[in-house]
Amino acid sequence: MKSPKEYSEAKKYQIKRQRQKLSIKLYVIMLILVTIGAIPTVLNNPHIGKKEGIIYLLVVFSADIIIFTVLYIGYRLENKLLLVDIFLFSVIMIIYIIAVTTSPRLKIFNIVIWMPLLIMFVYAIKRTLITIAFLLIHLGVTIYYLLTFPTYDYTINQGNYSAIISVTLILFIAMDRLVRLHNNYENTILDDYETLQSNNMELTALNEEYYASQEELMHQYDEIQYLAYHDSLTGLYNRKGFTNKLASHLSLETGGVIILIDIVRFNELNNVFGFEMGDKALKASAENIQLLTKDYIVAARMGNDVFALLTKPMDSDEAIIKLIRSLSQKVILDDIEIKLIYSYGIVPFDSESKNAEDLIKKAEITLFKAKSQDERHPYYIYDHSLQKDTEYHIRLSYALDESLINHDLHMHFQPIYQTKSKSVVGFEALARWNHEEFGFISPLTFIGIAENSMTIHYMGKYFRNYLATTIKDLDLLNLNPGLRMTINVSSKELAKLDFSDKVIHQFQTEEIPISMIGLEITESALIGNIDLALKHLTALKEAGFSIYLDDFGTGFSSLNYLDKLPIDVLKIDKTFIDQLHGNKRKQDLLLGIVKLAKVLAIKTVAEGVETEEEYNLVLDMGIDYIQGYYFSKPLPADQIPQLLKKSD
Ligand code: C2E
Ligand code: CA
Ligand code: CA
Repeated sequence: MKSPKEYSEAKKYQIKRQRQKLSIKLYVIMLILVTIGAIPTVLNNPHIGKKEGIIYLLVVFSADIIIFTVLYIGYRLENKLLLVDIFLFSVIMIIYIIAVTTSPRLKIFNIVIWMPLLIMFVYAIKRTLITIAFLLIHLGVTIYYLLTFPTYDYTINQGNYSAIISVTLILFIAMDRLVRLHNNYENTILDDYETLQSNNMELTALNEEYYASQEELMHQYDEIQYLAYHDSLTGLYNRKGFTNKLASHLSLETGGVIILIDIVRFNELNNVFGFEMGDKALKASAENIQLLTKDYIVAARMGNDVFALLTKPMDSDEAIIKLIRSLSQKVILDDIEIKLIYSYGIVPFDSESKNAEDLIKKAEITLFKAKSQDERHPYYIYDHSLQKDTEYHIRLSYALDESLINHDLHMHFQPIYQTKSKSVVGFEALARWNHEEFGFISPLTFIGIAENSMTIHYMGKYFRNYLATTIKDLDLLNLNPGLRMTINVSSKELAKLDFSDKVIHQFQTEEIPISMIGLEITESALIGNIDLALKHLTALKEAGFSIYLDDFGTGFSSLNYLDKLPIDVLKIDKTFIDQLHGNKRKQDLLLGIVKLAKVLAIKTVAEGVETEEEYNLVLDMGIDYIQGYYFSKPLPADQIPQLLKKSD
């Protein structure tokens, strides 16, 4: 494909060539006519002898040939068309002036016949009317001179007249034809040019349209890019955006520092003051973090209440600590001044660091470590003791995904007994992972790892499926129709909008009664988004699941939830049970809770009962059920039937 410019250049060249050919034709015809005209004039001149006449004619012929040659060479040169015309005109004029002045007997005659023809010719190329006008003037002048200057004493015979008239007529017709031809030709050229022009315009318009749509696309693309890489609440980069920026920073090999910043007890703030307040705290934190140092490269909100800052390398740990201490913690929210407390996970890295994901994981582990310390030391700077942990952690998370894909994760089942009768009323299904290289990994560890990524959602589904399959394989419904099988739900799962729909659908397709299944939800899972939790729990309850509130007594233990949420069973945590012995206050507190639960028709389970002493305490308090090593550890599935038979 030729570009419009190339096309018009080619067309222009073609037009020029054709015009050159036409001009040459015109000149040649011109010269032939002039020569023909010269023959009778010269030969009939009584003052010129035949010999002299022939010499004159030969001069004319040679002039023709010279002119034609110059003309041809001239037209081979490009871009010089007009110059060649003018040049030839001048040359011819000079030749004739010389001819006229050196040969008095021919002068007037020559001037009147040849000169106007030449002048006329130059114009003839362009204009018909001027051509005709010149022809007429020429004719008039010729006749006038011939009749009124008898001093040039040679008689004008019929031959002269006929020559003049015939030459003029022939010229007239030829010239007219040529000019028409030329005009036609010029029109076609013009037409061509116009089409070309309009094509060009169309092309330009198309081009413009194309660029406009291109621009719009780019704009949309930018917008999508922006949304994909930014946090809508704070306007900071999101985790993905941060990872990208970090990756491109790593390629510079200059080193730097990653600081992860977590708002301490953010969930509590959200809970006490509401989400609007939570959002304000997040926005204020985002602003403060950006003001922390002018040397930062990226500021991001990595998730819920965790922010990240990537800065240039810093001289020392002291400099970093000084920097984070300068973070303004005061936030004014609706006239209430709140002092936010932050935890910091700090990872200085050198030019050797290559992998952004791994660095972020390191930072998360460092932050985790920082959060586990007391509030007076809210930061942790990554060191080599953490290095091992990190590598281990990263390898573990890869191994976990692999095990999940290969169905290498299992469940054990811990029986739950009725306190008084000591008969088995159900089992809690507990996740188990025994990896060939890493050995037995606590569910607290690997669930935590899974919760750091999307893995938790696949894992949750996998274990629920595991439970359903176990119930069917062991025919538990027939062994004990009243059995309750419970399974734990991660807070991350509960935070997903379609969680209840998915779980209901999953169990509806398994052929087991949903009423047999209990879902254990921890208090901390409810704190994140109580409205969504309520929605899920209500839907699950309606579908027939029992709801267990797990780990009661470890967190905030708000009795609020008990009547707000559709809870069937309260599981009192092991740590609470552990503290009972010899602690009258705790015992009274628990007694109060148990009584309240009874009023609300909520059953109670004591977790982690290990001794007879504890058992008796729990029995005295009227706690309905017991789960603990005192009776049984979690068991592999195949031991369930045997246990149920024994319990009967
Ligand atoms: P949890 O839900 O509180 O589960 C009870 C834990 O206490 C189990 O630990 C159980 O083995 C342990 N336990 C029961 N009785 C006693 C006792 O008398 N003494 C002691 N020392 N421990 C006792 P496990 O199996 O290690 O599970 C730990 C946690 O991991 C669970 O705490 C639960 O939060 C989580 N988890 C386990 N399986 C799953 C699962 O399938 N999904 C989710 N999301 N979390 C799970
Ligand atoms: Ca549990
Ligand atoms: Ca528990």
